[in-house]
Amino acid sequence: MVEGRKRAKISIVGAGNVGSTAAMRIAQRNLGDIVLLDIVPGVAKGKALDILQMAPVEGFESDLVGTSDYADTEGSDVVVICAGVARRPGMSRDDLLAVNAGVVKCAVESALKWSPEAFLVVVTNPVDAMTYLAKVVSGLPRERVMGMAGVLDSARLRAFIAQELDFSPADVHTMVLGGHGDHMVPIIRYTTAGGIPVRYLLPEETLQRLVDRARAGGGEIVSLLQTGSAFYAPAAAVARMVDSLLGNRRRIINVSAYLEGEYGYRDVCAGVPGMVGPTGLEKIVELDLEPPEQEAFARFIQRQRALVKELAAGGFIAPESG
Ligand code: NAD
Repeated sequence: MVEGRKRAKISIVGAGNVGSTAAMRIAQRNLGDIVLLDIVPGVAKGKALDILQMAPVEGFESDLVGTSDYADTEGSDVVVICAGVARRPGMSRDDLLAVNAGVVKCAVESALKWSPEAFLVVVTNPVDAMTYLAKVVSGLPRERVMGMAGVLDSARLRAFIAQELDFSPADVHTMVLGGHGDHMVPIIRYTTAGGIPVRYLLPEETLQRLVDRARAGGGEIVSLLQTGSAFYAPAAAVARMVDSLLGNRRRIINVSAYLEGEYGYRDVCAGVPGMVGPTGLEKIVELDLEPPEQEAFARFIQRQRALVKELAAGGFIAPESG
């Protein structure tokens, strides 16, 4: 590489389906050099090498390294955490809490030792609780810790609406708040296709059917795959978030964020529209919610508080948290 031009460094912890596909998407976007880390060393090394060999074909310059040693992640600008266990048929995301909390806590502590200035993007499920855990364990300001879920949930709803209307998916925009998947709170009045509110284009029953399918979108894929969960769309969503952080774009994207009074709640993570730019989560956009939306949001927060209590009971965070 030519001396003098600093390339961004992105470390991805967990080189499974989501982590390795995110590495590929980030490389294809040429966002920076990538370290892929996994507890199973050969997996990270083999996948990093495989993606590196795409470079001449795809025309990207990202360098890729696979490792099990956090020292190799030193000086990362962004650390993406995708390590842990994914759902299998019959499991909810919340069922993963106990097993994944230890993995995420260790990943946050180890990664920050080498990259104290990094942004954290949490993917591991249950993502809102894991984002909260990362925020509390790291002690970082909330601007630097975000969870990936809303980009994916809204992408699922956008895809289904676009398919129904036979519109380009790029022209469909949605607003999804609250929790990931089952707990999402879609705001249909802010959902448009080609700039037209979708309520003018589709009957209410159709919209409800599409919302229900998006809400269960992850589970539909889990039951088809049988051995793991979705990863192409999640990886694309991760790359979008990294792109917004490193590309100086200030895009408004739905992220899981630590609330400090927004939407009437604090000390809890929830999906909200945020401006993501070079200083991280620069702003949370607050929307007026209608009573049924407020109720759905409140139910989600109640569930999150229960998960935070489980984190405290498991010794992952201090008992007074949440
Ligand atoms: P996967 O099983 O394919 O990969 C997980 C990887 O983590 C494995 O390679 C495993 O070896 C590694 N790992 C486990 N413990 C580790 C540790 N302590 N340190 C480093 N690496 C470790 O799973 P996946 O499909 O890639 O999913 C990863 C996580 O992301 C799951 O928890 C899944 O539920 C979650 N997920 C979240 C979203 C979202 O929208 N937030 C979407 C998809 C998946």
